[in-house]
Amino acid sequence: MSKTQPPEAIDAALAAGQRVFGENRVQEAQSRWGGRRGDLAGLELRLIGPLQTNKAADAVALFDVIETLDRVKLADALAAAGARVGKTVRVLVQVNTGAEPQKAGVLPGDVGDLIARARAASLIVEGLMCIPPADEAPGPHFALLRKIARRHGLGTLSMGMSGDYETAIRFGATHVRVGSSLFGERKGPETPSID
Ligand SMILES: *Cc1c(COP(=O)(O)O)cnc(C)c1O
Repeated sequence: MSKTQPPEAIDAALAAGQRVFGENRVQEAQSRWGGRRGDLAGLELRLIGPLQTNKAADAVALFDVIETLDRVKLADALAAAGARVGKTVRVLVQVNTGAEPQKAGVLPGDVGDLIARARAASLIVEGLMCIPPADEAPGPHFALLRKIARRHGLGTLSMGMSGDYETAIRFGATHVRVGSSLFGERKGPETPSID
């Protein structure tokens, strides 16, 4: 997760061999990655933040995978944007496993319909993504996501952040979204390690 990181931090990650980066805002990602995109072999950019339909074209142009498909209208906008530039759009469906009213993501019971609609629109649905409720044990949410993915024959599971990625891996995560524990933004003599 390279969101909010300064160029030196990105350079250090690239020098260490990291090639897959997540961003949560289209414009911020454009300014961070637009200039680097051309000369980095194997770079993969993934959008992991909410996406408005009016930014679908920009997102399709910049990102390799959009992890936050959560509604039919967005599926249609992404498909249209991809068709205009001849790009196959790869997505994950974001699932609101805790059915939290304030949180993005499709409800577990509606995942099948959204996948069907996305596939009909020629999007490549590679898997599912979730952000469990902050105040609950994440394990049951990861288990639910895996169960829904299996039901639909999906192989990619994006789940787990700095605080819970080990649990997520135990539950089958193929992608963990680690930011602060990798870039160390909370490091410092006064601040305890997040471990
Ligand atoms: C920022 C962010 C992360 C990374 O969180 P950390 O706790 O810093 O690892 C993971 N997923 C999403 C959706 C994020 O926005």
